[in-house]
Amino acid sequence: MKNIASRTAMALLLAGLLLFGLLTFFIRYFIFSDDWFSHSHSSDGLSVERVLDRGGKVLYAPKSDQTYSKNAAVRRATVHLVGDTKGYIDPLMLRQYLPELAGFDKINGTYGMQSGTGVVELTVESSIQTVALQALGSRKGTVGVYNYRTGEILCAVTSPTFDPCDPPVVEDGDSRWDGLYLHRFFSAAYTPGSIFKLVTTAAALETIPDILDQHFTCTGSIKVNGEVIRCQGGKAHGEQTVKEALANSCNCAFAQIAQEVGPSVLQRKAEQIGVTQSLFVDGYRTRAGSFDLTGADKNRVAWAGIGQDVDLVNPCQYMTYMGAIASGGRAALPYLVRRVSSNGEERYRAEPQRSQIMITRDAAEVLTEFMHNNVVRMYAPVNFSDVKVCAKSGTAEVAGSNPTSTFAGFLDSEKYPLAFVVVVEEGGSGAASPVAAAVLRACINVMYAESK
Ligand SMILES: [Zn+2]
Repeated sequence: MKNIASRTAMALLLAGLLLFGLLTFFIRYFIFSDDWFSHSHSSDGLSVERVLDRGGKVLYAPKSDQTYSKNAAVRRATVHLVGDTKGYIDPLMLRQYLPELAGFDKINGTYGMQSGTGVVELTVESSIQTVALQALGSRKGTVGVYNYRTGEILCAVTSPTFDPCDPPVVEDGDSRWDGLYLHRFFSAAYTPGSIFKLVTTAAALETIPDILDQHFTCTGSIKVNGEVIRCQGGKAHGEQTVKEALANSCNCAFAQIAQEVGPSVLQRKAEQIGVTQSLFVDGYRTRAGSFDLTGADKNRVAWAGIGQDVDLVNPCQYMTYMGAIASGGRAALPYLVRRVSSNGEERYRAEPQRSQIMITRDAAEVLTEFMHNNVVRMYAPVNFSDVKVCAKSGTAEVAGSNPTSTFAGFLDSEKYPLAFVVVVEEGGSGAASPVAAAVLRACINVMYAESK
């Protein structure tokens, strides 16, 4: 009897273990199967037939004789999104949708899985991509533009780039090709320079009740904690309101404003707009920036408020903050893939999602007027007569080379709700705004044509 009882117990134990194992498998299967699927196939091996831009032009068709666009400029402007056949660039965006592309289904498995039947429709427009790349010229950098109402990215360009039909031979240490296989818009983080004054200004508007009545004096330089902070060219801006200080991009005034805001509020504001977080954009996890004023002295707080400290910002994330100012607090989150279909059947369609609240509505309204004032007074290239542009430029000092030029903002427009960011590495002061002007014009033309 004892023998039978122990055998029964053993059988029950084994049955229990089997049941537990099966349950664990099914739970994990339902949670992770899309991931397993995505990682078990290379993107060009199976299911992508075509990748189209927002106008329906073919950017990538691995199963056809013509793998890429016939236009070399389009190939160079989009290779980082669709990947190259040599595998230097991981097409994260396509990988994200491999289950949908192949018609993968949790219940039925890979039903209807045929070679080359998946179609991916992007939100970017190849003609805008090429305008952006041309405007950057041979300089390194990135350009991003998106619709802050819907989240559609119209332009996401990175430079340097290459033609996938004629890839360069890259020698180790050749600085011309630094970061060649990286999409800077998603995967880089930069010293923001004075575009960060838009974060300091937001913090001041939200927390200092009489900030609009205050005046800040600039004599060209200011001593903070024994160290001198200068305005560009040592120019003395005199007495200014915060609005004038922003238009002048006055370092001396912003050193004072940053002290008044204080490190903990500035830190909280940077975190609230997501500087230190990543965004997920169709397979891309944006590089988190950094902002840490723990234990910072007054001098560091001043430099952080000016945008020249150790803080780093990701371009895509900062563009989203521009969208949030334009939208009165929360922006649509950016995305690249509009639709995925397999065997002619729709498997995925993007739906707009909104960011967390980045700025109060009141502060956003005031900042919008400040940023438009910047454009009218300072940025001739984007001072369009027909659309209200709001922006801020920045120049980030880089040891031993020409400074990086940044430019960020948005169109305050019902018809053209676009937010943008431009970075021109080693471009020198003022290099980014003409690039923005060319790209915004191209975006407006495309959206105008689409509305007809
Ligand atoms: Zn000044």
